[in-house]
Amino acid sequence: MLEAPHVLVGIAIASKVGHPLLSIPLAFGSHFVLDMLPHWNPHLNTEMKTYGHVTKKTKLIIYGDLALSFGMTAFFCLTALPNLFHAVTIGLSAISAITPDLIEAPYFFLNKKTAFLEAWIKFQKSIQTDAEPILGIATQIIVMAASLMWIMS
Ligand SMILES: [Zn+2]
Repeated sequence: MLEAPHVLVGIAIASKVGHPLLSIPLAFGSHFVLDMLPHWNPHLNTEMKTYGHVTKKTKLIIYGDLALSFGMTAFFCLTALPNLFHAVTIGLSAISAITPDLIEAPYFFLNKKTAFLEAWIKFQKSIQTDAEPILGIATQIIVMAASLMWIMS
């Protein structure tokens, strides 16, 4: 799944659960649950195997996704102010929600091919439910809309 829906779910958990010791691990766990929903994202593994690197188009999608994720995190952190404790909890939960993918970044972008990274990627791949772009993007929009409604409820 793209990072933006992961981040919004992490923020929703932080804003509803509140306590960082609970919301940060829950946000981390939410990553795997969301990846089980049918979704579309660029196929980094296939591109690595076919071209030996990630394509420019995919990099653009990733940068856009990260920019949106960062913007939403910054927005909700600022909204929580002046409650700094809650703002930090939101920020850390958002990061925690995408940590399973951040762990993979050195493999795809710095060519770090360690046994741990390969095993981690294999595990993440095994729980993914891939879908065609139309259905696979629709599910992510629904996840984002539901998270927003949950945050604002
Ligand atoms: Zn993932």
